[in-house]
Amino acid sequence: MDRLVDLHMHSTASDGTLTPGEVVAMAREEGLAAIALTDHDTTAGLPEAIAAGRRLGVEVVPGIEISAKRERGTLHIVGLFIDPEDGRLEERCQALQAERGRRNERIVSRLCELGMPVTLDEVRGKSGGGVIGRPHFAAVMVEKGYVATREEAFDRWLAKGQPAYFPKALLDPAESIAMIHDAGGVAVCAHPSQLRCAGEHELEGAIAELRHHGLDAIETQWSTATAEEMALTERVAGRQGLLRSGGSDFHGGNKPDIRMGVARGQIRVTADVLEALRRAARPRART
Ligand code: AMP
Ligand code: ZN
Ligand code: FE
Ligand code: FE
Repeated sequence: MDRLVDLHMHSTASDGTLTPGEVVAMAREEGLAAIALTDHDTTAGLPEAIAAGRRLGVEVVPGIEISAKRERGTLHIVGLFIDPEDGRLEERCQALQAERGRRNERIVSRLCELGMPVTLDEVRGKSGGGVIGRPHFAAVMVEKGYVATREEAFDRWLAKGQPAYFPKALLDPAESIAMIHDAGGVAVCAHPSQLRCAGEHELEGAIAELRHHGLDAIETQWSTATAEEMALTERVAGRQGLLRSGGSDFHGGNKPDIRMGVARGQIRVTADVLEALRRAARPRART
């Protein structure tokens, strides 16, 4: 039987609830051959994950997830096989985190205005010391009884278009892809359904444009995908000459219905997918 891999997941370095070491330990329990840790805007979790992987016999692919500008929906670019010690990447991550800091302060004041006072310290308390994002606000809002569930926190307050939503100043798609290439990685369009394209033709147009900016691969398996969406994306990848990737987007308790390696039971990413991505990354690595 082919061993499975999972090339998209989060730890306490961003908005997951398990530490990088715990993520790797769970991957071992789940029998995964390899995982990629792809925290939002940071490589801070990678050294711990890589060390745990060596100890436990799970390959850890160094990764990251960067949000990019898009008029409709959201565009997330995952980088795989990045150099975790690349200085330029570190600098660019610091800039993205500074931008998040400004946004977090705005969310705090808006929630106070809306009669749901929260402090930055309370939110930080939910973050495990990593990059702070909306899921941490949602957790505090549940704890303080402002909403019943995290979903309600997003749907009523934090999601795009809702009263406590603030956009981040995002990178252009080309910049986010270059940021990953410059650090030796391959650039992957994550969970393509979030691009909110109406049908196969529109998706192919959006993907062709990203490919023009250097995109290497697209996730053809992701946590919310239906069989039809995966088949459609597979066809687009084939026609555009892109590599495939896939993963659960595991976040631990912040997405309790997502299981590592299988998501909601519909994904199955095999080791050959990882090997093709590795071959694409190798010429870029400078070490
Ligand atoms: P941020 O990076 O701070 O904008 O937060 C993005 C994270 O919030 C993503 O990783 C999602 O897991 C989560 N998220 C975004 N929209 C929703 C939603 N409508 N419901 C639940 N979680 C969401
Ligand atoms: Zn996340
Ligand atoms: Fe994402
Ligand atoms: Fe993600």
